[in-house]
Amino acid sequence: MLYIGALILISISAVALLNKILKHRLLSKKRECAHLNDEHEKFSLENARLNSDNLRLEDSVAQTIALYDITKQLCKSLDEEKIFTIFNEQLKNHIEISSCQFLTKDADLTQCKGCTVLPLAIQQDKVGYLIAKGIPDKDKDRFQILGQQFLIGIKRAFLYKKVQELSITDSLTQLFSRRHFLDRLKEELRRSRKFKLCFSFFMIDIDKFKNCNDKYGHLVGDAILREVSKTIKESLRQIDFVGRYGGEELAVVLAEANKQQALFVAERLRHEIELKRIKVYDEELKVTISIGVATFSGDGEDTTEIIEAADKALYMAKQAGRNKVCAHKAI
Ligand code: GH3
Ligand code: MG
Ligand code: MG
Repeated sequence: MLYIGALILISISAVALLNKILKHRLLSKKRECAHLNDEHEKFSLENARLNSDNLRLEDSVAQTIALYDITKQLCKSLDEEKIFTIFNEQLKNHIEISSCQFLTKDADLTQCKGCTVLPLAIQQDKVGYLIAKGIPDKDKDRFQILGQQFLIGIKRAFLYKKVQELSITDSLTQLFSRRHFLDRLKEELRRSRKFKLCFSFFMIDIDKFKNCNDKYGHLVGDAILREVSKTIKESLRQIDFVGRYGGEELAVVLAEANKQQALFVAERLRHEIELKRIKVYDEELKVTISIGVATFSGDGEDTTEIIEAADKALYMAKQAGRNKVCAHKAI
């Protein structure tokens, strides 16, 4: 009996112990489970963050590719209109847009209500506007960025044009440089030969210019040279051209002008300069010019012969007392 009682007691104790152990295990499993839940939540958050980083990166890669593509295409041209055509085509590949226009700085913007307007400027100078229709909000920032690439393209074209102009322009008189003038003269000769046309050539020299420099100084001399150049350039037609041949010597090509027409124009120029009062600082000065005329009559002469003929005629004008127009007798 005692033995049975002891057995029951031992069994009860064993069950209690087992129960305790199981409870303990259960508790530790629950803790482990809670820990795993925490970890899972952390990983889920991290996953969401990585996904959004990924989207951001994809977006920025797309933006970089768009920038690269557009810039690469825009670099293919140095012509403003062409640059815009390329930009417009490329834009549609990278953002949602209905239409885009490039308007000049003086354009009337009142009709652009509801459009996205991007003003463009090079340093402080307004260049124009990009006017876009139908861009969704999500693409507006990208449009601004791509618009800046277009501006860079326009800037390149603008600088290229300026460098080209500088390389063919004499800095004091703003006339063609001697080299460029001679290139154009050769071209004119080729064209005239091909189409059996005539043209005339003037060699113009300011009379007694050394005296001007000696009396008033070189700065005044420069101002006179500038004014004489401007007057001559402004009184010629668009198809004629004028260059600074030497110090105070200017050369002119009168396209499709025969000897009689050339003498008439040369006389008009001479007279205009003779009458002109040139204001420099406090002085009001007057100068005269002598002009030697040569005419190409359709075949024969080359540029050297034409220049020499005009030079000889100029010499004659100087010999005749200056402020004169002479034509080379052989032509
Ligand atoms: P002529 O009537 O025979 O042509 O007399 P001239 O004094 O004009 O001729 P000359 O060839 O003796 O002198 C030309 C002068 O032009 C000499 C030079 O000082 C001046 N000159 C040439 N280039 C420039 C320039 O860029 N600026 C100024 N101020 N003077 C110049
Ligand atoms: Mg001279
Ligand atoms: Mg002179």
